Amino acid sequence: MTQPALDFVIAALERIREKGDHAPRASRTALARLQDGEPVAVFVGETSASPIGRRLQEARHKAELLASVRERVGACTKCAHLACSRTQTVFGVGNPDADLMFIGEAPGADEDQQGEPFVGRAGQLLTRILKAMNFAREDVYIANILKCRPDTPPGSFGNRPPTPTEMQTCRPYLVEQIQIIQPSILVALGAVAVEGLLGMRGTMRELRGRWHSYNGIPLMITYHPAYLLRNQAPSEKRKVWEDMLHVLERLERPISERQRNYFL
Ligand code: SF4
Repeated sequence: MTQPALDFVIAALERIREKGDHAPRASRTALARLQDGEPVAVFVGETSASPIGRRLQEARHKAELLASVRERVGACTKCAHLACSRTQTVFGVGNPDADLMFIGEAPGADEDQQGEPFVGRAGQLLTRILKAMNFAREDVYIANILKCRPDTPPGSFGNRPPTPTEMQTCRPYLVEQIQIIQPSILVALGAVAVEGLLGMRGTMRELRGRWHSYNGIPLMITYHPAYLLRNQAPSEKRKVWEDMLHVLERLERPISERQRNYFL
């Protein structure tokens, strides 16, 4: 088993133990085999065939598949100019078995440095939005269309959006991620992400606030958090929040009165 997959299994077992309804059980032999990287059955509660056990095995399988795509992305040089300028590739982060997956456009300077999507100011705002939805970052999956930071001229500041050619070149990796994770719902953050995912251009006014579809998966389109950093009007925050309320409703998550009334 690869290290990311092993880490994921251990984290999942810890989450199950914290919930306290089913203590995970494994024999000494099974634990030794797990440490040695050999395949083992994970027993949760009475039987590995229980719904939790099956979900855990599926999640482990998805984590392994994602790890193999991550390896290919890490060595990718299809965009020679980006392969030269990047510090590292930025693959994606979160639960390989997530119901909810967020898609942004491309890594910025902070993400390029840290190797994780949405860690700069916009990313911190996304984390706060997730928290308001009662999600942790580890519950969802977050990825970008582009896995390398779009290069900028030496000495210049800020980030540039990816070009259509760059997005088309990198898009197959995202398609693989979606195929493996099989989320129930996708959220595209900003018009550039929509263009990269669906190949269609439009204004956010036209696109957001209603359901679209990507390969049969319901897709909600909303503003990129960076937009909310530039435009802090409560009315704009409310628009994003209304889009997230649609997502929570579709996921059949409970919504409190307080959540319903944010930014009103
Ligand atoms: S942006 Fe994507 S396709 Fe281009 S070099 Fe990076 S990983 Fe490869």
